[in-house]
Amino acid sequence: MSYPSEAPYAHVLKKLQEFRARDAPTQGGSVLSYVYDSGRPELDELAGHAHLLTQTVNALDPTVFPSVALMERDIVDFARDIFHGDTDVFGTVTSGGTESCMLAVKTARDLWRSNRGRHDIGKILAPVTVHAAFHKAAHYFDLTLDLIPVDPTTGEVSAADLIAHMDDDVALVVVSAPNYPYGAIDPIEEIAAAAKERGIACHVDACIGGFALAWWDTRTPWDLAVDGVTSLSADLHKYGYAPKGASVLLQRGTTRQRAQYFATRAWPGYPVVNSTMLGSKPAGPLAAAWAIITYLGRDGFQELTTNIAAATNDIRTGLEKIPGLRIMGNPDSPLLTVITDTSLPRNERVDPHLLADAARNHGWMLQHQPGMTQSDGTHLPHNVHLTITPVTAHHTARFLTDITAAADTVRGMPGLPDSKIIGETARQLNDAFDTHLGHASNTTGDSPTAAAILTRIGINTADAGMPQAMAPLLALLQNIPNHVGERLLIELIAELSQPQPRPTPE
Ligand SMILES: *Cc1c(COP(=O)(O)O)cnc(C)c1O
Repeated sequence: MSYPSEAPYAHVLKKLQEFRARDAPTQGGSVLSYVYDSGRPELDELAGHAHLLTQTVNALDPTVFPSVALMERDIVDFARDIFHGDTDVFGTVTSGGTESCMLAVKTARDLWRSNRGRHDIGKILAPVTVHAAFHKAAHYFDLTLDLIPVDPTTGEVSAADLIAHMDDDVALVVVSAPNYPYGAIDPIEEIAAAAKERGIACHVDACIGGFALAWWDTRTPWDLAVDGVTSLSADLHKYGYAPKGASVLLQRGTTRQRAQYFATRAWPGYPVVNSTMLGSKPAGPLAAAWAIITYLGRDGFQELTTNIAAATNDIRTGLEKIPGLRIMGNPDSPLLTVITDTSLPRNERVDPHLLADAARNHGWMLQHQPGMTQSDGTHLPHNVHLTITPVTAHHTARFLTDITAAADTVRGMPGLPDSKIIGETARQLNDAFDTHLGHASNTTGDSPTAAAILTRIGINTADAGMPQAMAPLLALLQNIPNHVGERLLIELIAELSQPQPRPTPE
């Protein structure tokens, strides 16, 4: 498609509305991941106005646009207050959780190298449940990951197991409050104390939960009040209810915080000083997040979190009453992970992925998470992930009625990950990969061949969007080696964004 002439203003917006009609609903609470609906429409409206007011600002340079510095000051001040940092805690607003996590890693790596005179590859030490953003950070910043298996029945890590791996090569220990997969808060006090004793930095990833847990009655302390915690990340675009593109990273001490920066004047252009990874950057998400914090204040957050806690409790109790299902571990956050109750005979079990596909027929979108085998050989079960937001409180009863009905339709049906047909398809897929892509890694190997393998298993990207039933795809992923699955997923996601029609491979 080309754009030879001007299009009418109204036509442009109509077209965009048509695109948007394809999306999952971002408001109303029917999607229980990715989006965080406060249930108060005026918040989205306020965020929109704030975004528009700052839309043309370049947040790259606060000397030219002081509003950027002023908004950032307020957010950092609010964040360090609610996360119990004293006046020796400093911070930055970033574009999201991934950027906050990556900058925490970059900071720790640079300080580890300079304090210890090391130039080799250091380690990030964390429970296996640590967010994938740290896998990405290790990849980008050339560090290795030492992942400690969790108890396969509770999903919780043993502090002693993790502490036993704290050696001189560890540049950063990461703990989560809570972790994404199971909603558990790691044993942060013990781990942070042990890290401090050994002079190792300790990051608390509170990206998802931070702005809810600050008002949650958690069973253990988890924030900057904990001795030994050197940095903490919390996403404004999750339970801070801001539109996407905002997170805060707090660091203890100016020396540590400055190690986060990048500066250069070794080129002929303007002197560069960046607190974050981007160069030119939007002020809109920052302004929207600032507006929401200023508007809600502590009391507003407290009230929203009270609603979340009530909804989480009701949903957890309700789900536990559905025969064949159970909740993984004992989450201490608004995240619930649903697994099969394997204590029951097979004909009474409910497979979580079949449940999620069935729930979609009732209008609910739950997130499928595949199972995985840990480095110690134990297996973490495939499951369904629920992120409970304030809007959920408005329709808890309807949700439970629908999920109960969905469970009734799939009870006794065998889970796909162990099925013969999936096992056979996985074998064929893997053979095709080996034959045609040889020793390809997760990003190498020729693309038309990868696309052809996808087509062979019935995946067609021409129309954009994913199939209604996700269980077969997830089961397949669980049955093929990671690098094969990753390579095929890259092909799939990349194809979605490419101009159509695509040439057919020879
Ligand atoms: C969401 C999340 C991240 C990454 O954040 P993005 O905003 O998606 O980049 C990191 N850690 C945890 C625990 C998260 O839930």
